[in-house]
Amino acid sequence: MRALPSRRHFARRSRLQRWAGLTARLCLLPLALLAPLPALAAELPIFDAHMHYNVEARSLLSPEQVVALWRRLGITGVLATSRPNQGTLDLMAALAREGRKDIQLVPFLRPYRVQPDRDDWFSNPEIEKMVEAELKRGIYRGIGEFHIFGRDADAPYVARMARMAKQRGLWLHAHADEDAVERILRHAPGVRMIWAHTGMSTSIDKVEEMFARHPSLVGELSYRSDMEDNGQLSPRWRALLLKYPDRFVLGTDTWVTSRWSQVPDIIATYRRLLAGLPPHTAEKIAWRNGLAMFGAQ
Ligand SMILES: [Zn+2]
Repeated sequence: MRALPSRRHFARRSRLQRWAGLTARLCLLPLALLAPLPALAAELPIFDAHMHYNVEARSLLSPEQVVALWRRLGITGVLATSRPNQGTLDLMAALAREGRKDIQLVPFLRPYRVQPDRDDWFSNPEIEKMVEAELKRGIYRGIGEFHIFGRDADAPYVARMARMAKQRGLWLHAHADEDAVERILRHAPGVRMIWAHTGMSTSIDKVEEMFARHPSLVGELSYRSDMEDNGQLSPRWRALLLKYPDRFVLGTDTWVTSRWSQVPDIIATYRRLLAGLPPHTAEKIAWRNGLAMFGAQ
């Protein structure tokens, strides 16, 4: 894993890129008078449906630097879910201070205070109390990302939380194996769920079968390394994305601090892979689906 670049690195890179962008625009200026710039037109906006601004990252990147990074990369929507939730609140405050409306932030309630909560949140009464207290803020559009596998999804709190989410119109964002997804959907049939990493290692045939049976399931595509085949979108994934163009979203999943330095590459990879789809479908997966799920605010 690469080390996190310093703030200076981001600043330097940003200056360099601005300079490179300016030079490119100056060189192309005569052409630009004749035709629209295809390079700019091809730059798909991105809705990042899996972003964490965790406590470790907060000590290295200010909310303003995170927002600046999003803007530089063309990320126009972000589903934010942070440990603890203060990270998400800080980002909301930074965007509110700016007063610009070019980035839509969709806050999700993460049921974790500290990293070890990930292992037993579903059986810890303190977490249930924390979730209840956080929900009183009235800002969250969903609960997650949470980790749950197999029979743990039958814990009484998971069932209660899934039913509560369905009742209140909240989404779930689950990092789960297919067994846990099925159990949650049995507790609360029809509850809307983002399946983090689309199961990560779940076979594509199984994903397809689950999508057919569960119309409320949306797949988030981070860490699906099988999407790329010789630098291009794999034919099998292409077929699945074309079959369910309204049910996939992208994510950066900045779950460890080192992942922040990879965000530009992650976004570039998504844009490269999506270029293998018809533009209308690529747009949906890049950002329109996220917008349709959560609406403009
Ligand atoms: Zn995650």
